[in-house]
Amino acid sequence: MSTLFVSDVHLSAGRPEIVDAFESFLHHQARRAEAVYILGDLFDEWLGDDDDRLPHPRITEALAALSLSGVPVGIMHGNHDFLLGATFEKASRCQLIQDPSVIEVNGTRVLLMHGDILCTLDTDYQDFRKIVRDPDVQREFLHLPLEDRVQRATELRGQSRKAMRLKPKDIMDVTPEAVVDAMREHKVRHFIHGHTHRPAVHKLDVAGESAVRIVLGDWYEQDSVLIWTDQGYRLGRISDL
Ligand code: MN
Repeated sequence: MSTLFVSDVHLSAGRPEIVDAFESFLHHQARRAEAVYILGDLFDEWLGDDDDRLPHPRITEALAALSLSGVPVGIMHGNHDFLLGATFEKASRCQLIQDPSVIEVNGTRVLLMHGDILCTLDTDYQDFRKIVRDPDVQREFLHLPLEDRVQRATELRGQSRKAMRLKPKDIMDVTPEAVVDAMREHKVRHFIHGHTHRPAVHKLDVAGESAVRIVLGDWYEQDSVLIWTDQGYRLGRISDL
């Protein structure tokens, strides 16, 4: 049995082939897993649990079918879908998990994060994150009609794209010190996150012990997955399962 980890699927109506691939994964390969963890940015834009634009209803249904088949699914907020809430949780029968979370996989403690918190050099983004994660700000936003939320989100994305073009690349990666601090704090030697879209297995040293940080890939070009069995873990593709 394997535990599967994916992130940054970025499902949207504009990428129908990715929606098909992910839905097929939920109906087939995921059914044989012990558990599935989705570490943020499953949806490219989720503006509240009443955001029923395509492909949201279809994917919510497929998630519910997977959960009902007996496979637990944990979903973490990403910076694109942090408004996933209790109504989605109920409809999808998934469990929204905190960022960060520590779980046990085949006897190993593993730290899970989306990863955006670790990009500490990008102070503009961290300031923005504080604002949009504020419960009062969210309550006010969710009160707007959906079409107003869509318009506001489109404006914000335009601004963010412009800002990203001006930032040096390394600013948008995780800060090595933030990684070590998080792993120390949570007393883990294994860490899985997404967000940066730079899939890799990094060996590092944490408090004098060898440790590993696994970065999940996005689904823009490949159906990236981390497969963890009692034989160990490997970064691969859904089509390898
Ligand atoms: Mn992200």
